[in-house]
Amino acid sequence: MRVTFATEAAPGRPNEDFVAATPDAVVLLDGAGTPAGSESGCTHGVAWYSRALGSTLLTTMTQTSSPLIEILAEGIKTVASMHDFTCDLTHAGSPSATVVMLRHSADTLDWLILADSVLVLDTADTAEPMVICDDREALVGAAHRTTMDALPSGSPEHVAAHRAYVETLRGHRNRDGGFWVASADPLAADQALTGTVPAHQVRAAALLSDGASRLVDRFALTTWRQTLDLLDEHGPAELIRRVRAAEHSDPHGERWPRGKALDDATAAWCDLR
Ligand SMILES: [Zn+2]
Repeated sequence: MRVTFATEAAPGRPNEDFVAATPDAVVLLDGAGTPAGSESGCTHGVAWYSRALGSTLLTTMTQTSSPLIEILAEGIKTVASMHDFTCDLTHAGSPSATVVMLRHSADTLDWLILADSVLVLDTADTAEPMVICDDREALVGAAHRTTMDALPSGSPEHVAAHRAYVETLRGHRNRDGGFWVASADPLAADQALTGTVPAHQVRAAALLSDGASRLVDRFALTTWRQTLDLLDEHGPAELIRRVRAAEHSDPHGERWPRGKALDDATAAWCDLR
């Protein structure tokens, strides 16, 4: 694969997204932010967690052909062992991240998705791309975001409602009937969506954090097909530039209510042709 990627933090904060790649493996993680004034039990923080888990996963993917679920479970354990002696990993706000993994081997493409990042496969036999997303967090969240979405982004009331929303969602994290993310419990890996497709049936693949996919799935300014064409012609940085332009056009979330007016945004483009 020829892999290109871009990632950009929301201004003024460390980037809690992580992306890394070899010609045969790509990982993309989106750390779940800890809102100001909220506790996590961890002295390292979410950006550290995303980087530690992402780099561990990529290392293992390049060294073994184990199933991606096993690699993810082992990676979660490894990162837990890096800080279980300094931090309270039983804390409900312990750092967590979404995970997308993509691996190209001789004839196949293996993928894994946990939580709300997006994988888009441009498949040879269909006009519409295959869009894979784990929407369990969005389904749980929909029941709890009415108050937050009614308030203008950036206002103190919105900040407080966002914090309350994040803390409410924690109660549904990594439990049946809720949603699953990478955090301290390796059993979350069993809840990932996975698949394998013949590599010759895939022209290209895009991995997107929700800060990048929002151009399609929240703002509806473009289609998945157009997003793939944009990535092909102009690259991942241009996609993020367009996301930022849309966000700046609606700074208070009046047109598109959202938790973060500007979010970390990451896109990876894998060309298999
Ligand atoms: Zn820690």
